[in-house]
Amino acid sequence: MEESLKKVDTVEVNQKDKNNVELSIVIPIYNEEENLPILYEKLKSVLDNLGKSYEIILVDDGSTDRSWEIIKEFAEKDKHVVGVNFRKNFGQTAAMSAGFQMARGDVIITMDGDLQNDPEDIPKLLEVLNNGYDIVSGWRKDRKDTFLTRTLPSRIANWLISRTTGVHLHDYGCSLKAYRSEVAKRLDYYGEMHRFLPALAKSVGAKITEIPVKHHPRIYGKSKYGISRTFKVILDLFLVKFLLDYRTKPLRVFGGLGLILFLIGFFSLIYLVFIKLFLGEDIGQRPLLIFGTLLVLSGIQLISTGIVAELITRTYYEAQEKRPYIIKEIISDGKLENKEKEYIKNFQ
Ligand code: UDP
Ligand code: MG
Repeated sequence: MEESLKKVDTVEVNQKDKNNVELSIVIPIYNEEENLPILYEKLKSVLDNLGKSYEIILVDDGSTDRSWEIIKEFAEKDKHVVGVNFRKNFGQTAAMSAGFQMARGDVIITMDGDLQNDPEDIPKLLEVLNNGYDIVSGWRKDRKDTFLTRTLPSRIANWLISRTTGVHLHDYGCSLKAYRSEVAKRLDYYGEMHRFLPALAKSVGAKITEIPVKHHPRIYGKSKYGISRTFKVILDLFLVKFLLDYRTKPLRVFGGLGLILFLIGFFSLIYLVFIKLFLGEDIGQRPLLIFGTLLVLSGIQLISTGIVAELITRTYYEAQEKRPYIIKEIISDGKLENKEKEYIKNFQ
């Protein structure tokens, strides 16, 4: 018995040695052929100076230029490089999510592949992370993008996100961030949600801070986004608000609103019935009749939507064996167990 327990232990340790690195750099790449070689050189020199074990995960998000060829060349001559090639363009968030899943590091750093973020900021991010944070987010204090189409909409979006989510950062859109991997791997990434990751991370209890980072104008290649992104961000904001506050209790949102509408409608109709029966007045022409009927119907609709949402929520949690809570540690029999690491093992 003793013997076999020991065996299991050593196997696990060996596995850990083989698999784990200290740092995983995750970079989504979509048509960045001119930027890749410069990015790679810059990253290498910063990372080699850090003296930590690392991997660079380059996720090619369906590029139509030579990006994937270049990534393959890097990976063939450098064991630190992991390349992932998407079948088609799935978007930056999907690419980041794939990178997060692959990542073996205790710390995951994300950045853009277009040289707008500067690898030289990495040591600073790590230093702050080590002061007890789970996420350190970059703040492009001196942003080098066009004002009207990029910087201004982004300021408005940042203000809205800060107000709505209760996670107060100056710059949610900055890709340069450092995450503790147990937090990063817990987040859901759908749609264009990467800018909301800090907010979503708060829902799993992460400690978040930000530091100013450098930002450079894009020199090679084109930006992949236009002004339409602002609208998508605002729509996503509704979803994030919902996910943050009502994910486990959707009936409260839909049902709450539904109940208010229903009651206003109901009493309007009661009032009309009273007028008709006791005062003998004609009510067929009264706008209040339409108003009341509509409110009662929408109220019922919203309440049923809430109930359907409750059912879906249950499927969501049970199908993925998610729990509406996250355990950090358990102590029993006088033995303290860290549950966070276990979660990661299950995830991979
Ligand atoms: N990107 C991606 N898939 C996409 C769009 C962008 O992987 O569909 C990558 C892109 O190659 C870059 C990063 O995401 O590394 C940020 O994109 P971009 O520089 O165009 O965004 P901006 O800096 O203009 O906000
Ligand atoms: Mg960019």
